[in-house]
Formats: sequence, structure tokens, C-alpha cells
Amino acid sequence: MTEGPVLLVTGGSRGIGAATARLAAKRGWRVLVNYATNEAAAQSVADDIARDGGTAHIVQGDTGTEDGIASIFAALDSRFGRIDGLVNNAGVVDQTARVEEFSRERLDRMFAINVIGKIRCASEAVKRMSTKHGARGGSIVNISSMAAVLGSGGQYVDYAASKGAVDTFTIGLSREVATEGIRVNAIRPGIIDTDIHASGGLPNRATDLAPIVPMQRPGTAQEIADAVLYLLSPEASYVTGALLNVSGGR
Ligand code: NAP
Repeated sequence: MTEGPVLLVTGGSRGIGAATARLAAKRGWRVLVNYATNEAAAQSVADDIARDGGTAHIVQGDTGTEDGIASIFAALDSRFGRIDGLVNNAGVVDQTARVEEFSRERLDRMFAINVIGKIRCASEAVKRMSTKHGARGGSIVNISSMAAVLGSGGQYVDYAASKGAVDTFTIGLSREVATEGIRVNAIRPGIIDTDIHASGGLPNRATDLAPIVPMQRPGTAQEIADAVLYLLSPEASYVTGALLNVSGGR
């Protein structure tokens, strides 16, 4: 397929991003799969998409840095020359810690990736999507978290605060570009069974916390991808500035 719409998924190599990239390709999107370090995982997503007859390329780039973002958008421009959707997904947690224990380095990393990186990727996307700049519009989906509402006290309030910033940014940007053909929405996943919990030192977190979820189970990356694809689709043509909880009721 050479003419389908183009989707950039940041952090598309694993977890929610990988599920989103795979599902988007099935729905006719051409996909640029960004990763930070795990090239093999990104390549495997792209290979699966190609095997199913879709189009995907991979690009390394740390969304917490300007160089990384520049590499991602340079690849987008050279490979596809357009962007119709951005899934601002790349995000990190850190070890469980109380506020007294937070270092400056921890907060700089958390906010560089979870907040500034998402805002900067949106900046680059809007330049290439806005009808104000002669483009055809598009859709941005920011991956927030229920932590934005719950606050994650005793676990990682810095992460929760970074997701609160994503929610506010989503609302503001949606209004800023509403007449320029761009819809901007966020999804707040609840507890989803991915590698992110192990990266924060709690590999069993998703199953351990199942009892506090009204539906009594963690969600799957696929269930988040389904919601992302809805927000990207024409069926969501009047949906902008929405913060969609996909959290099993929690
Ligand atoms: P994951 O399984 O840990 O995967 C993270 C993905 O992001 C990987 O593809 C990773 O790339 C990439 N990544 C990490 N840092 C990056 C950076 N600086 N630049 C570019 N890519 C980067 O995480 P996940 O659970 O799918 O989480 C995805 C998003 O959902 C995050 O924003 C997270 O906060 C949010 N979320 C997750 C949950 C949950 O319970 N899982 C709940 C609420 C919200 P590599 O493969 O190269 O490392």
C-alpha cells in the first residue's frame, strides 16, 4: 500500500505502542514505529505488519531529546512525506519512591520523556498537519494514565503529575487547533499488562493490582489500541479534547 494515511507511533516497539502499530496497519494506516533502544522489538512489529501486507518502517529516537525528535521527523519526512496521525505514546515510570527521595535527575528524565517529548512531537506534527500550514489535517492521541486522576501516592507521584500535564496539554491543544483540521484527544489507560511495570521494579504489578480494579483484571495493550484506533478514525470526527478512561472502571 503506497497511498494510505501515515501514523507515527512513538514507543511503538513494545506494549501499547506495538499493539497500536499492528492494529493501525490492519486498518490501512502506513506506520512509522519509533523505539528508544530495542531495535529488535521494533523490527519485529514492522516485520509482522509487512507479512500481513501492510507498510511499516522503524526509526530510533529518544523522544526525551531534541536530537531524537529530529531523527524521528526526518525519517517521517523522507520515508512518507506526510503525517495524518500521531500516537504520542512513549512514556516511562521509575522505581517506587516517596517524594523526599526524588532526585533532580529522576524528575528531569520523567518530564523530558512524558511531558516535553510529547509536546515537542505534537509541535512537529501540527506543523505538518495543520490546514493553516497548507496540510490536510490529522489526529493526535496522547497516552496519558489514570494516574493523572488518582495521583499515585506512595508509588510515583512524579509520574502521575507528568500525566496530569498530558491531560491539560490535550485540552488546550485541542482548542488551539480545532479549526485547523486537527483533533487532539487522550486516553487514560488503567493497569495494563505490559513491560512497563517491570521497568519500575514491579514485574507482577498488573496482576497484583487486579483486585482493586472493578473488573478484577488488568487490561491488555490490545484494548488500549482499540480505543486509540477509534479516536484516530472518522467515526470520532466530532471528538476532540476528550480524555477517555480505558481502565476497567478504576
Ligand atoms: P512499555 O511496555 O514499557 O513500552 C514502552 C515503549 O516506549 C517501548 O516501545 C519503548 O521503546 C518506548 N520508549 C520508552 N522511552 C522512550 C523514549 N525516551 N523515546 C522513545 N521511545 C521510548 O510501556 P507501555 O505500558 O506500553 O506504556 C506506553 C504508554 O502508556 C506510556 O506513556 C505509559 O505511561 C502509558 N500507560 C501505561 C499503563 C500500563 O499500565 N502499562 C497505564 C497507564 C498509562 P524500547 O522498546 O526501545 O525500550
